[in-house]
Amino acid sequence: LARLRARLIKSNNIFGKSLLALLSQDSIDDDVWDEIEETLLMADLGTDPALELVDALKQRVKVEGTTDPQRVRAMLHEELTKLVDPTLDRSLNLQAEGRPAVVMVVGVNGVGKTTTVGKLARVLVAEDKDVVLGAADTFRAAAAEQLTTWGARVGVPTVSSPIEGADPASVAFEAVEKAIEVEADVVMVDTAGRLQNKANLMDELGKVKRVIEKKSEVDEVLLVLDATTGQNGLNQAKVFSEVVNVTGIVLTKLDGTARGGIVVAIQRQLGVPVKLIGLGEGADDLAPFEAEAFVDALLE
Ligand code: GDP
Repeated sequence: LARLRARLIKSNNIFGKSLLALLSQDSIDDDVWDEIEETLLMADLGTDPALELVDALKQRVKVEGTTDPQRVRAMLHEELTKLVDPTLDRSLNLQAEGRPAVVMVVGVNGVGKTTTVGKLARVLVAEDKDVVLGAADTFRAAAAEQLTTWGARVGVPTVSSPIEGADPASVAFEAVEKAIEVEADVVMVDTAGRLQNKANLMDELGKVKRVIEKKSEVDEVLLVLDATTGQNGLNQAKVFSEVVNVTGIVLTKLDGTARGGIVVAIQRQLGVPVKLIGLGEGADDLAPFEAEAFVDALLE
């Protein structure tokens, strides 16, 4: 965890440093407040949250009559934490009774879905859980191969189809069936994300979910989002949340961006908590999202 934290700090400390520098002046005039707002927007916080944060800070600086850098830093920390919202339940819902918990993983191609399934499988295996993977991204032969490789690496079985373009819903169904058969604790289904053909993709995802539901409830639908794509990625992701009932966000590639503010924008716009973060390509580079620790890292 310390290593992940260090990585987050490294990519995001430009944001924290420039904010703190701006806030550490003897007097904070309108130009400085504008710059602060600009910095928040640059970090992808989103327009409304950025305005709210600036207003809250302005108010507090005025009421408390202080520009002491330590105080201002504490204020910024508190207000940012409020925006990130430490009260949200970010636990994964994997406590199914008498059957495997079913997790669907959705998102646009290239955001890190397959990698996330692999990393999460490893975390679950380390917790002594029996896991089955389902490779329902049947449109890219490489996707099923990649998932099978992760499965082998982590030591869990992967259900896939040898036929490229096979029906993703039937692969998903078989994976769930297998998980039930072997009395696994969790089955994770990786899905396709070709957004070029939105209508088809959405039909297909809806179908995957409906077909799984013939066998079992779906306990978690994790939407994977690439932090480096900012607002644009967020707009694409909205489409997914319209088709499947997303229960949590996995924000990947936070190691490669200084735009950690996107966490706030995502939660606001999708109404779903960020539950996990990806901080690298390696098997250990997945961490639970913790509001306080995240803000600490942003402001380090
Ligand atoms: P998918 O198409 O959504 O399944 O995406 P993949 O899992 O194939 O990942 C696409 C690329 O992103 C791969 O090169 C991954 O190694 C990389 N990737 C995934 N997660 C992360 C992350 O958290 N940080 C970084 N730096 N790279 C990541």
